[in-house]
Amino acid sequence: MQFHLNGFRTGDPCLLDAAAVAQTPEASLPSQADVLIVGCGPAGLTLAAQLSVFPGIRTVVVEQKSGPLQLGQADGVACRTMEMFEAFGFAHKVLKEAYWVNETCFWKPDDSQGGDKSRIVRSGRVPDVEEGLSHMPHVILNQARVHDFYLEKMEQSAARLVPYYGRHLAKLEREDGAPSDASNPYPVVAQFERLVDGQAGGQGSVHEGQIETIRARYVVGCDGARSQVRQSMGLALKGDSANHAWGVMDVLVNTDFPDVRFKSLIQSANEGSLLIIPREGGYMVRLYVEMDKLKENERVAGRNISKQQLIAAAQRIFHPYSLDVKEVAWWSVYEIGQRLCDRFDDAQPEQQALRIPRIFIAGDACHTHSPKAGQGMNVSMQDAFNLGWKLAAVLQGRSPASLLNTYSAERQAVAKELIDFDREWAAMLSGGAGNDPSAVQRYFVQHGRYTAGTATHYKPALLTAESGHQHLAQGLAIGTRFHSAPVLRMGDGKQVQLGDTFAADGRWRLVAFAGKGDAATPDSALGKLCSYLGQNADSPIKRYTPAGADVDAVFDMRAVFQQSHHTLAITAMPELLFPHKGRYGLRDYEKAFCALDGASKNIYAMRRINQDSGCLVVVRPDQYIAHVMPIDDTAALAKFFAGFMLENAASMDHKTTDSA
Ligand code: FAD
Repeated sequence: MQFHLNGFRTGDPCLLDAAAVAQTPEASLPSQADVLIVGCGPAGLTLAAQLSVFPGIRTVVVEQKSGPLQLGQADGVACRTMEMFEAFGFAHKVLKEAYWVNETCFWKPDDSQGGDKSRIVRSGRVPDVEEGLSHMPHVILNQARVHDFYLEKMEQSAARLVPYYGRHLAKLEREDGAPSDASNPYPVVAQFERLVDGQAGGQGSVHEGQIETIRARYVVGCDGARSQVRQSMGLALKGDSANHAWGVMDVLVNTDFPDVRFKSLIQSANEGSLLIIPREGGYMVRLYVEMDKLKENERVAGRNISKQQLIAAAQRIFHPYSLDVKEVAWWSVYEIGQRLCDRFDDAQPEQQALRIPRIFIAGDACHTHSPKAGQGMNVSMQDAFNLGWKLAAVLQGRSPASLLNTYSAERQAVAKELIDFDREWAAMLSGGAGNDPSAVQRYFVQHGRYTAGTATHYKPALLTAESGHQHLAQGLAIGTRFHSAPVLRMGDGKQVQLGDTFAADGRWRLVAFAGKGDAATPDSALGKLCSYLGQNADSPIKRYTPAGADVDAVFDMRAVFQQSHHTLAITAMPELLFPHKGRYGLRDYEKAFCALDGASKNIYAMRRINQDSGCLVVVRPDQYIAHVMPIDDTAALAKFFAGFMLENAASMDHKTTDSA
């Protein structure tokens, strides 16, 4: 983490100086917003945290509940999500507090010769995450704590962003239909009704029932599966109506079941399936218990399933092990339905040239998953991470509004794939594999990349190039997230994960992997790339970085060398890799890295990067790989960014932190 760039300051370095435009709590909603976010679930808070990095963008977050979530809902945090949390600066807090999922155990009916099928026996154990899939673990933590970390990040940002609680979106309308909206920059009008304690018609507040109107440039509906925003767009979730009901409860128990502190999948002969998710803190466990299949259009509420029924069902599945439930901290009955929206924005494909999207939906508002693959919360946050930097780029004038079309295009395709996976997985757990436990175990291992969140692969399009040079870095596939590996920081010899240096700050990363012997001297390939980027008026850095901003304000250049840091000198690096920054022109010592020795630790070997020629890898602000190209292909680099960036962007008034 870097701080003190613009002068020494005492106190918590995460608490940034409040920007002049920082929000102050107001009794009423403001009348205008650049981005209005409806809903404070994982999607809404990821988006809010991302936008809070840019205090020049007026973001307003509104939630119907009376305050932050306290209990329940999702708890699985995938490896990919942990990588993203690192970009937001709070992964270490999650790592400390969470349960780490190390192994998954499989249990089945005892079908051995002479065995008793009503008894369960362990049928296998597998590592939960395939070796090398991510440097981050799969962890379990209460969704409410994830919310807390986002809220803290928002409150500490220069924007001092805090949600407005106790308001229910009642109406949403877009006023413009015309190609140009210059005369109406805030075309989306939202009306909220003020509630008391999250309930309409409550008592005790002078504001109760008041209607507040806010106009916005963009609105993002992060308002969950029953999204009002989605309905106002005339869109619907489509999918299976044949739902399964699963009971979920967080319990403090005593049991003689040996794997209660392992994630375990239990399939009983006649009593259904059960999933154990050990929880943070060492004592609590979450049990997902299979209940009945629902009839078409039947809602689970109609079944009146009780907590006692859940406990009894779990006890039957556990046979012959005991399950003595001491306390139920939270329980719910959760319907499984894999449902998906056709679009995630309000611009119809045939209108794209005419009408830019102004209203978006993210998270459960546009796709719902079963809880058992742990997708819901994770995919929702990734939606928002995809959208946040794009909204910022458009609002700061760095990209045209057409960039926003890529959100629905990218995320709808991903959601479809994940939903297909989730449907198969949920069916397997509900007996679809003919109750063949080994088939379930095989499927789990084969599809581990989905549950880890690393399977997302954006197809070639505007932001993910069709490159003929993928062979230069075979382990860094264009369209996938940047798969991190360890490197040594040249300036101070610290071993770091390269991917962990990519903060959620809206910047693009230009990561140069130097070819053999290249020390970035002026006549070397990397030296020439640095001088092109730093000095040539046609280079992306020169064209798209606003006047007066730090050289890395839009493009964060990093380089990895094959030599030892003992044979290279940070002070001999080109300006771009050792830049002067901030009001004192202090040098940044954290741009240049060296590969580690040994095939299992060397980034070139791990990510199959061509050691002779090296290459340049372009990484998007949401950490997905956009391009792989030869180091000297400056024409390809310029062409790629010219596809969606604009010159003469607004000043970088959002640039509030230089943390790496
Ligand atoms: P949500 O987390 O649903 O957040 C939407 C937010 O919008 C809410 O805070 C809501 O109050 C607010 N909102 C809705 N309408 C309005 C409005 N009109 N005006 C203002 N605010 C509004 N997943 C699992 O993996 N395991 C589980 O056991 C599990 N249990 C769940 C139990 C419940 C009761 C719910 C609702 C979800 C559960 N999930 C579970 C799903 C998981 O929590 C979601 O996939 C995840 O939270 C999706 O995040 P989101 O931000 O898209 O939506």
